Amino acid sequence: MTETGLEGLLELARLCRMPVQQLARTSTGTAISSLQLLQAYQNGILIPWHKQQPEQFKTADELLTADKGGLVFVPELGIYGDVAELDFASLYPAIMAKFNISPETLDCPCCPDHRVPELDRHTCRRRRGLVPQVLEPILAKRARLKRLKQTATDAQARQTYDRRQTALKWILVTSFGYLGYKNFVFGRIEAHEAVTAYSRELLLQAKELAEAAGFRLIHAIVDSIWVHKPHVGEREVADLADTISRAIGIPLAVEGVYRWLIFPPSRTHPRLGVPNRFVGVFRDGTLKVRGLECRRHDTPPFIAQAQQAVLQILTQARTPPELARHLPEALDVLKTSARQLWEGRVPLHDLAITKQVSQDPDAYRRPCDTAIAAHSLLARGVRLAPGESVQFVITAAGDPDPACRVRPLAWGVSPEGYDRAKYVELLLRAAETVLGPLGYDYAKLNELLELQPAACR
Ligand SMILES: [Zn+2]
Repeated sequence: MTETGLEGLLELARLCRMPVQQLARTSTGTAISSLQLLQAYQNGILIPWHKQQPEQFKTADELLTADKGGLVFVPELGIYGDVAELDFASLYPAIMAKFNISPETLDCPCCPDHRVPELDRHTCRRRRGLVPQVLEPILAKRARLKRLKQTATDAQARQTYDRRQTALKWILVTSFGYLGYKNFVFGRIEAHEAVTAYSRELLLQAKELAEAAGFRLIHAIVDSIWVHKPHVGEREVADLADTISRAIGIPLAVEGVYRWLIFPPSRTHPRLGVPNRFVGVFRDGTLKVRGLECRRHDTPPFIAQAQQAVLQILTQARTPPELARHLPEALDVLKTSARQLWEGRVPLHDLAITKQVSQDPDAYRRPCDTAIAAHSLLARGVRLAPGESVQFVITAAGDPDPACRVRPLAWGVSPEGYDRAKYVELLLRAAETVLGPLGYDYAKLNELLELQPAACR
């Protein structure tokens, strides 16, 4: 609701033919269901009251192929300039519409040669499926609202169009999820698998087309690709998006061209990148961050802010080589933050780690920090239910007695204060994510700080 506002709600009420009050309190699944049932009714189709359709038998090999999901190319580590990010709009629903994927069109008796890539399945080319019939007008309307948003001149209108298109986006996203849900009237897992099989095929096609145009694919995930070409111009990127859109028949939009883009290494495998974890600055100066500490909810606010401050400084660099010029300033910010932590001057609520309790406090087998904090609260009569969150501060990370390691934030300051060395370590880890690719790994940053030896672990 916060993202789509009243405009989005009204858009959906109109689309799904549901009263506004009812829609506001129901799940997206119910809304889609309403829409599909209406289409079925208009087509003169009898709707089963209770549905019985077990998943069909699959061999182990088929399961492996079918369960693959969307395509992912793990990014190559490092710093890049001249990278374009291209995104397919509503890729899965667009595939359902374009390739006529619907529970009743899959494996029809009439068109055995209209094959789904990789899988031993086919779709019908003679009868239009119910799900595509429902999706097509929504896709068209969303595209129209997005165009209107781009051409709108006043901010109010832009926001209205954006909220309406976002509401439609959720319907589209959810419709893919429900396609694979067997308890849903128009759900069938095999249809779901056909969609992801097509998506992998299309993404590979996009990769080949980009390579034919002289680009190199450096990262891809489900419906987005990141391609690099030295000194690439905006025009050239727009042309590539056009070429791919026309060849595939699903619109591919330019998200932007990056001045610089960093793919940090994985924590557990330092020589590998992590899908959808990067930071970069577009040519218009916008910073884009995915998967880094400052975006995670369980990062203490102080650490998230320090990482953001470092990134903000690097935003000034216009090319990858220029990043080095802004390093001294970034390192200064880091030093100041580290000193504040080390001298015990950071307020507790800026150090709180927020985690969700996943089970009953008594059910935890190992004393992880979340369990310890939940237990401490329980000892004082507060029982957290699974799904609730707990906030705690690290007091003595290495203490042999688990109860001493963390302390619920609600208890306030403890006589010993927070674990300074541990928080400096967390700060340096977050800094390393961004600065490691620039030659400043954890050890080098730690050396630079010149804190007491206790911090060097
Ligand atoms: Zn057919």
